[in-house]
Amino acid sequence: MIRTGLGYDSHRFADGRPLVLGGVTIPHDRGLAGHSDADALCHAVTDAILGALVAGDIGQRFPDTDPSWTGADSTRFVAEAVRLAGEQGLAVTHCDATVLTEVPKMSPHVSAIRRRLAEILRCDPSAVSVKAKTNEGMGFVGRGEGLAVMAVVTLAPRG
Ligand code: MG
Repeated sequence: MIRTGLGYDSHRFADGRPLVLGGVTIPHDRGLAGHSDADALCHAVTDAILGALVAGDIGQRFPDTDPSWTGADSTRFVAEAVRLAGEQGLAVTHCDATVLTEVPKMSPHVSAIRRRLAEILRCDPSAVSVKAKTNEGMGFVGRGEGLAVMAVVTLAPRG
């Protein structure tokens, strides 16, 4: 059976933190605040996989009250969700994500992010789409307070 899941995440920008998206550190004067490395793209993709599995959400699986996730590399969350999918005989066949942010410009980093995400998702980079757009100056994204990510993941039986 083919399954589809939707994920969303947002984090505030914060000084003195690295900006990590999709497991790639992006040069910028601010990073994202959070308990883990605050990689909103990995968090949205993790939630999309968990949604496809009807397996709860990232907050239930990796609670921020658990000190073992402090500063965690969020690619671990994605990898764990992929492992859970594998237990059900499912593999990621497609991922599409949109990063909403005013800064930094994402286009120079998209191919590196696609390659890194594909490694973690165990699929080909040609099946991983990462897009970026501004929010036209509107709302918390528009004011540069933080960024948001939306992601859709498709799972299919492993061939
Ligand atoms: Mg998050």
